[in-house]
Amino acid sequence: MRYYRPTWAEVNLNNLKDNFRQVKKIISPQTKVMACVKADAYGHGLVPVSKRLQAEGADFLGVASIDEGIKLRQAGIRLPILILGLVFEKDTSALFEYRLTATVCDSGLAAALNKKASLFRKPLNVHIKVDTGMGRIGVLHAEAEELVKKIHRLKFINIEGIFTHFAFAESNRDFTRYQLGLFGRLINDLYRAGIRVPLIHSANSMGVLGYQGSHFNMVRPGLVIYGLYPKRGLKIKLKPVLSLKTRVVFAKQLPPGCGISYGHTYVTRNKTNILTLPIGYGDGYPRNLSNLAPVLIRGRRLKVCGRICMDQMMVDAGALRAKVGDEAVLIGSQGKDKITSEELAELSGTIPYEIVCGLGNRIPRVYSGPKD
Ligand SMILES: *Cc1c(COP(=O)(O)O)cnc(C)c1O
Repeated sequence: MRYYRPTWAEVNLNNLKDNFRQVKKIISPQTKVMACVKADAYGHGLVPVSKRLQAEGADFLGVASIDEGIKLRQAGIRLPILILGLVFEKDTSALFEYRLTATVCDSGLAAALNKKASLFRKPLNVHIKVDTGMGRIGVLHAEAEELVKKIHRLKFINIEGIFTHFAFAESNRDFTRYQLGLFGRLINDLYRAGIRVPLIHSANSMGVLGYQGSHFNMVRPGLVIYGLYPKRGLKIKLKPVLSLKTRVVFAKQLPPGCGISYGHTYVTRNKTNILTLPIGYGDGYPRNLSNLAPVLIRGRRLKVCGRICMDQMMVDAGALRAKVGDEAVLIGSQGKDKITSEELAELSGTIPYEIVCGLGNRIPRVYSGPKD
């Protein structure tokens, strides 16, 4: 595919590799890594990211849906793939066809999978999701032991894993410890009942960084692999994987008193240079960054002015005489300065996850570094 609009995202697969190795250094050598690549690898590109992580020795990939799993298989990914979300009974054939591992949290789905597996004469691996305080999918912790025992008796279902998910690992230590306590107790109870589940996992990125006791024998990082921080002040040194860039398509000088963009939320104070960039909220660049977001051009930190439009936005360059074709960095570094997804997230009142996941497929991803 050829793109004419000069707006693109650079994805540095070497940085991805370095972040992955940082995670490996934190965890014990026996602990496995399930790299979370759902939502198009947090906007970084599902297939290239997964290929590189497979080459780097990831043990498992975590996706949201059967569809994402199929895309990985069609791209030749051989790693085990866990679907972190739930599937409907009517769709379960695809699990066998594409060798996908299902999340299960009730006996109805387990029974349906068992029936399907007996038809295919192929046992199915499942991971049981336990709700210890997230209130999302998952069997309530108090009912988990009974469910696991029930599923354990199903002939064609292999309970390969059991897992839970933290509700606020980055902000509430007590509650995270409480969740871990519930999960740990369940694992012990199962052990005493003679059920040893091979893979036990609970740690997202913040679990990996902040709670050694959450590692068990597999961790499930997403965010940190992409070089993004779940909160400020963490000691680990990560390298952002994604940069977002565009080029000035129009530059003009305006006198004082000129309103810029819809609603004239910005009016020029002095004679100034207004630049137009070909990117907007139609690309997932948040519209509430209007009059807020920094942009790097010619090594200078400038600011978006006026409302961000669907496909374009303006920057006040002041006295700087930028030229059509100049590179503008929206996420990433230029000269000595850099703009992070975390910074944009803070300005936009969201989390870095949403910034990178939101970048639309109108923005081509350009990869650097060995692919696999
Ligand atoms: C996305 C996801 C993760 C990864 O979370 P990060 O905070 O990005 O590390 C882990 N576990 C589950 C169940 C997830 O959905």
